[in-house]
Amino acid sequence: MTDPLDDFARDKLKAIAAATLTRRLKPTERQAGGGVRRGPARLLSFCDNDYLGLSQHPALKRAAMDATERFGAGAGASRLVTGDNPLYQAVETRLARIKGTDAALVFGSGYLANIGIIPTLVGADDLIVADELAHACLHAGARLARAELLLFRHNDAEDCARILGRARRDHHHCLILTEGVFSMDGDRAPVAALAAAARAHESWLLVDDAHALGVINQGRGSGFSGGERLPVELQMGTLSKAVGAYGGYLAASRPVIELMVNRARSLIYTTALPPGTLAAAEKGLELIENDPGLTALPLARARAFTRALNLPEALSAIVPLIVGDEARALDAADRLAQRGFLVTAMRPPTVPKGTSRLRFTFSAVHREQDVAALAQAVRDLGLGA
Ligand SMILES: *Cc1c(COP(=O)(O)O)cnc(C)c1O
Repeated sequence: MTDPLDDFARDKLKAIAAATLTRRLKPTERQAGGGVRRGPARLLSFCDNDYLGLSQHPALKRAAMDATERFGAGAGASRLVTGDNPLYQAVETRLARIKGTDAALVFGSGYLANIGIIPTLVGADDLIVADELAHACLHAGARLARAELLLFRHNDAEDCARILGRARRDHHHCLILTEGVFSMDGDRAPVAALAAAARAHESWLLVDDAHALGVINQGRGSGFSGGERLPVELQMGTLSKAVGAYGGYLAASRPVIELMVNRARSLIYTTALPPGTLAAAEKGLELIENDPGLTALPLARARAFTRALNLPEALSAIVPLIVGDEARALDAADRLAQRGFLVTAMRPPTVPKGTSRLRFTFSAVHREQDVAALAQAVRDLGLGA
């Protein structure tokens, strides 16, 4: 007996396997200090986004447990019904202060934030101009908005301005989308130049700072330069990476935040975050706000790695090593695992075709000798410069 749906799925999977692009879930237990247990193996992780090790921090675990005891395991309803636990306000006040904005709003995740924010601000008569390497959830938000979408060359503010010069006048509103730190390349957007282009062409700028909060500019993210806030109207990001918990956010002016509360479908029609998660996020943000020494560590470790391998200097906690071929990237990751290092091979469609890579991420929990040992293992594979 064959089932048409199963046949459909099997055919699709066959094509994925033929391109060496099969993805598999691997149960992994994460532990304090960057260690992970995967089956019988004990590995040191260089492939998570827990840049400050806060997901394992005793103060965050304690905060989550206390809030769970006090308020329960789940939120019970959406924020607009009865799910708006007072912890939300504490997190949002802190986020607004860190980001230098009047207000902030917490969403269920970074993905949910982007698919809610973008369609709230632009629609069918409008234009979106996005970096060609922008994250999948920015694209998802752009699709839901049904605005015309044009892509500019990666990190090229002049190309962005050129596109705006050509296309802006045919549309009502215009939103520019970029990541602050690019998740697969670790490089940084020219935020000041993009903000200038936005201003010159009456457009709004959204910077997705998923990989910058807690890591760049004393942890405040990429909307700053030398302590000064850049004119970025929409600073969004996640509480799931350096903050060590879960959730997404937008930091913006008060009217924009109030509009989101009234219109963002991914805020309105979804259950609020569990109280324990909010309490952990609040504690993570407190540590980020008060410990600039901690927030400097991921970049310092990444730079030690790029120096050891003669790679271009790291600009963030993320360092890509482009291998090209999918099978070669998987093989390199396997061989690093044999040496005790967990590093994920990134393949299309997460990265462009022909640019499969190892993506290393560095964290405050890594010791200098861990980074040196990883660099040696990479050199032994014949990778690096
Ligand atoms: C991880 C990530 C997101 C999604 O955030 P989640 O909270 O994990 O949903 C959004 N944008 C970028 C650039 C990311 O890397």
